[in-house]
Amino acid sequence: MNKVTTPKSFRVKSFGCQMNVYDGERMAELLGAQGMEAAGEGENADLVVLNTCHIREKAAEKVYSDIGRIVKDWDDDDGSSPLIAVAGCVAQAEGEEIMKRAKDVRMVVGPQAYHRLPEMIGRASAGERVTDTDMPAEAKFGALPARRKRAPSAFLTVQEGCDKFCTYCVVPYTRGAEISRPYGDLIDEAQKLVEQGAREITLLGQNVNAWTGEDAKGRAIGLDGLIRELAKLPDLARIRYTTSHPNDMTDALIAAHGEVEKLMPYLHLPVQAGSDPILAAMNRSHTAESYIRLIERVREARPDIAISGDFIVGFPGETDADFEATLQMVDTIRYAAAFSFKYSPRPGTPAATMGDQIAGDVMDERLQRLQAAITRDQLAFNQASVGKTCQVLVERKGRREGQWLGKTPWLQSAHFTGDYAVGDLVDVELLEAGPNSLSARVC
Ligand code: SAM
Ligand code: SF4
Repeated sequence: MNKVTTPKSFRVKSFGCQMNVYDGERMAELLGAQGMEAAGEGENADLVVLNTCHIREKAAEKVYSDIGRIVKDWDDDDGSSPLIAVAGCVAQAEGEEIMKRAKDVRMVVGPQAYHRLPEMIGRASAGERVTDTDMPAEAKFGALPARRKRAPSAFLTVQEGCDKFCTYCVVPYTRGAEISRPYGDLIDEAQKLVEQGAREITLLGQNVNAWTGEDAKGRAIGLDGLIRELAKLPDLARIRYTTSHPNDMTDALIAAHGEVEKLMPYLHLPVQAGSDPILAAMNRSHTAESYIRLIERVREARPDIAISGDFIVGFPGETDADFEATLQMVDTIRYAAAFSFKYSPRPGTPAATMGDQIAGDVMDERLQRLQAAITRDQLAFNQASVGKTCQVLVERKGRREGQWLGKTPWLQSAHFTGDYAVGDLVDVELLEAGPNSLSARVC
């Protein structure tokens, strides 16, 4: 094996959900605080962290091919080799196997252990191969450096892990039990993000609406209380949260949607399927009917709210009639956006060994039909927004001269021209709609 050098530069490559993006940012801040430089686009990095996702498909295979590519691209004229770390949920689930199969991997670090990366890097640079997949999540947040992210829209993880054990899902095994980060830490982190230019904060959690804590006066509060407190930060203009579970959607949180102006009119509330037998087999602990009633109550509190969701097609045992019930759910809710996935058996989950697994071509056909229905409703939602005036948070330059891209309160992408800067909140009128974006004119 080539000699390993102490890294001076790093790259963190994150896959999967927004929580992984957040973890990737925190790892980059941690490595930066150790004096390492982030490698530029196309540059070799001495340390590469692959921050992986295990939720679907051949995630592990992708990690192995990425490792091969990093090693192949590495310029080893001086006999050195890159330090490769596999982090995230694949590391947690398949760490031992990765160490056996991929000799170029020097570190395996689970999602709750990445605050110990600096110490691991020291050992790996000295030639050791190091694995750390310990679970206690709270220690991690306390050990990370202060936020240094400068962006108009920032993520803030408030809750981690999951106790729901949906039968298809690997998250309870890779991320561990539900924990809520303490209130004071979250207010501090939000303040830092705002001081550094964030106008919008998205609160993150695998079950973000299961967050609970104690406010500054020691009173027990839920996510609604945290949102109300964050809304008091004068320079913070927008608050969002994701992902929620239907069973944790409290009356108080629903009421907050009607009362807190800074809470944006958007709710991502996955349902997964429209058929009760499938929901029961998934261990979702809600029915199609209870989900529909819940959405009605949310819409009563905030009539213009955009609803989004997640769906799985081809769960074991899903019949044509079950799938029709899912299409019926889409017709009833009329989602402003939704994500849909083919069921992917995850090793170690109960659904992976259920009988009656669905054939690939059946899943393909169902997914196509579902996505067509979702796109139809997404376009209809965007078209219904034409003529509305609203604020857009400017996120980046567009492709054309003078063009800017930003997000409406309903999380639609809008583009317009003018003399602006990233982070500005611009009043616009929405002019024309496509399924994925709208054009706008500055008011
Ligand atoms: N906690 C959230 C919830 O319950 O809605 C979702 C977390 S999960 C990271 C995001 C989405 O991935 C799920 O809502 C589900 O649609 C999808 N998903 C999870 N496991 C899956 C599997 N085995 N196959 C296909 N999709 C899956
Ligand atoms: Fe996975 Fe279900 Fe937990 Fe969501 S609620 S993370 S789908 S087990």
